[in-house]
Amino acid sequence: MPDYRIRQLALPLEAAGPGELRLRAARILGVPASAVERLDIEKRSVDARDKRRLRIVYGVLVGLGGPPRSLDPRAEPAPVLPPYEFPALPRAAGSGGSRPVVVGAGPAGLFAALMLAEAGREPLLLERGDDVEGRERAVASFRSGGALDPESNVQFGEGGAGTYSDGKLATQVRDERGRNRKVIAELLEAGAPPDVGVLAKPHVGTDYLVRVVANLRRKIISLGGEVRFRSRVGGLRIEGGRLVGLEVEGLGSLEACAVVFAPGNAARDSFAFLRDAGVPLERKPFAVGLRIEHPQEMISRAQYGEAWPHPELPPADYRLAGRAPDGRGVYSFCMCPGGMVVNASSEEGGAVSNGMSDWARDGRNANAAIVVQVDCSDFGGEGVLAGVDFQRRWERLAWESGGRGGALPVQTLADFLEGRRSAALGGIQPAVAGPWSLGELRGCLPPFAASGIAAGLGAFGRSIRGFDRPDAVLSGVETRTSSPVRILRGENLESALGGLFPAGEGAGYAGGIMSAAMDGIRAAEALVAAGY
Ligand SMILES: Cc1cc2nc3c(=O)[nH]c(=O)nc-3n(C[C@H](O)[C@H](O)[C@H](O)COP(=O)(O)OP(=O)(O)OC[C@H]3O[C@@H](n4cnc5c(N)ncnc54)[C@H](O)[C@@H]3O)c2cc1C
Repeated sequence: MPDYRIRQLALPLEAAGPGELRLRAARILGVPASAVERLDIEKRSVDARDKRRLRIVYGVLVGLGGPPRSLDPRAEPAPVLPPYEFPALPRAAGSGGSRPVVVGAGPAGLFAALMLAEAGREPLLLERGDDVEGRERAVASFRSGGALDPESNVQFGEGGAGTYSDGKLATQVRDERGRNRKVIAELLEAGAPPDVGVLAKPHVGTDYLVRVVANLRRKIISLGGEVRFRSRVGGLRIEGGRLVGLEVEGLGSLEACAVVFAPGNAARDSFAFLRDAGVPLERKPFAVGLRIEHPQEMISRAQYGEAWPHPELPPADYRLAGRAPDGRGVYSFCMCPGGMVVNASSEEGGAVSNGMSDWARDGRNANAAIVVQVDCSDFGGEGVLAGVDFQRRWERLAWESGGRGGALPVQTLADFLEGRRSAALGGIQPAVAGPWSLGELRGCLPPFAASGIAAGLGAFGRSIRGFDRPDAVLSGVETRTSSPVRILRGENLESALGGLFPAGEGAGYAGGIMSAAMDGIRAAEALVAAGY
């Protein structure tokens, strides 16, 4: 007897509990509620378009003892989705005795290593930063005013840039082979909160992420992989036009049959040694801007109306998009309900804003980046790494504005619009993990971005009441929205330098945790498919 999938099962807020859900599902299938043997929630979201009639919208999978009596168009027999399978391919003759190496223990690298370990390839995973336990200490020390550790920080270390984040897992990437389901299944097995498998916009939260990434590492090791921390790759060993190994700080020269290279978008030194080794790279557009904070209460009330607060309603999020006067896109990015702003710098002398939340999203402020599109022609300068120099220029100005001590510069929206340094805050206190100081942010952005943000703030205030309130808190600069370069790869995902498989966000093929993890899986598949 197949299961039945019902999409778009909308229940009014006041009757959105499990009993009512079962009744309504049974009614759609024309059977009594007692005939429903199993009901799994696959998706749950809030429809707040009509603020007087909020609805919880479910997608459910229903198992019945017998056939349904009628079939509402919202229901259909659910095909059994085959589990994701990693291609079981033998190594090609002559591919050498050495094992595959994965560089970077972010989502892309962790999942590439996990797949290779599951396939019995005993990968070596190299990570420049600490394991998550050591990384916690490095990040805590920086946040209490200590020096930035350039190897272990919010960008670098086990779990990559995604560890100290909100852990949003939404992605636009569709995948016929089920790599997304594989990622979710592994995250759940590693201890992610169960609703990650259910919510339309799932998120893990920093409090869970730190455990999840440590458990993924343990699984890789239990399957025969090896993980080395504080092992920064500093160069490539190339012989006969092929990659045959890596130069690794602390470990020396290592052999590799092939390498999945997933260094994330902050690995500027890695981009430089790839360029110097002749690996084909190209410039890539990204976006820059600032982070904005409002009271979460204000955002939830604006999104849900009088229904807020309600036990069925999570702290509200938002997604805003508009056009700057010069036609560039200006939009919100990486919104963190009930979160904290973090200094996500990985270089001494730079200030970089970003956001994180714990799973409960119960902090007092909502934060999100407001960013403006940057084209490669905006970078100025020569060379393929001109985008890195462009990012660095604004990060340094923000560091100076923050007082040169690692504090994030903070400014009220009113002062930003006036272009004057903030001397005082209004009614909103920043929720920043670590030091911050009052500063001036307009001068820390390219003029087109500053004016694009100013225009966007006004427009967004018409979508969300209070968004452009004068005491909204801005911090900056938000420069690490995605990679400023792409490490080119062919159809088989291999670089023109044989044996090198660039992967994830730093390589320019992903944007976010989920898509990076899925790309890591693809890169591991490609490595095996190429016979390494
Ligand atoms: C604060 C913050 C919040 C975020 N929030 C979200 C969110 O909620 N949802 C979302 O989808 N995305 C979020 N992102 C973005 C997300 O984290 C990235 O898209 C994702 O982590 C990219 O994965 P990756 O594996 O490609 O690279 P990364 O996660 O950057 O991992 C790369 C790893 O490689 C290591 N490395 C770099 N160079 C070397 C080298 N030479 N040798 C050895 N190791 C090296 C680094 O130390 C790092 O651990 C956030 C990012 C930040 C910084």
